[in-house]
Amino acid sequence: MRQTRIPVLTWHGYNLFGNTYETNDLIAFGEDLHTIVACGFSVVPLVEVARWVRGERSDFATPVVALSCDDGTDFDALDIAHPVHGPQLSFTSRLAQFRATSEGLNAQASMTSFVIASPSARLQIADGAMSGQRALNDRWWRAADKSALLSIESHGWDHNHPSVSPVAQREQTTGDFFAINTFAECDTHLRAAANFIESKAGRRPQLFAYPWTQASDYMRSHYMPRYAEAEGTMAAFGGASDYINRDSDRWYLPRFVFGPDWKSSAGLKKILLGSLS
Ligand SMILES: [Zn+2]
Repeated sequence: MRQTRIPVLTWHGYNLFGNTYETNDLIAFGEDLHTIVACGFSVVPLVEVARWVRGERSDFATPVVALSCDDGTDFDALDIAHPVHGPQLSFTSRLAQFRATSEGLNAQASMTSFVIASPSARLQIADGAMSGQRALNDRWWRAADKSALLSIESHGWDHNHPSVSPVAQREQTTGDFFAINTFAECDTHLRAAANFIESKAGRRPQLFAYPWTQASDYMRSHYMPRYAEAEGTMAAFGGASDYINRDSDRWYLPRFVFGPDWKSSAGLKKILLGSLS
């Protein structure tokens, strides 16, 4: 079986409504790691998938998958308690456990965390959309990135989130990312966000994930191809649930999301095996 296309998987640490696979992305992630091994897949860094798309590296020796999480809540890297559902083991801790019992590439498995740059936006989102739990901090970014377990990459400036005011959108239209379609707006989300994340994480982001997977034609087809590489960004993730192949648009690379795209180990197995031909 040959792999001609690669699945990138995404979880959200704050999707935490109980302590079962179906209700808790952290628990689902832990079980999904075992499904990945059972299907004969190796975990590779997301940046390696971006290099593969760009033709900057050869094919992988085994079937591979890359892992990501969005929005950069503290549940990504810190073992903290949820106010209702109690103590939780972070993605990072679960990865460390996985490494300790794995062989080959999986003994170095890592994940990419797409974080929101603006401190003010994070505070407002934490208060507005995350029931007041102040769990969108940047104090763990540097240690996480250094650990090689979790790479810190960019999810833009303020998510153009309805809880945030003001947003980096000229008419204060929030709630979708298609509204980000001028040079100034795109530049805030790419360049200003990269500058801030670099200052806190100690490394400039190389990857970008569009909030809500949405990108205006201007951002993906005009701004990104012209300006992103000069800022150190080599690929951006967005669009429909799908696999990535060598011909994918490096400025609009699809991913699969836990919940919408799979809800069980069997569902994940189907996605993984679907990348082989
Ligand atoms: Zn997001």
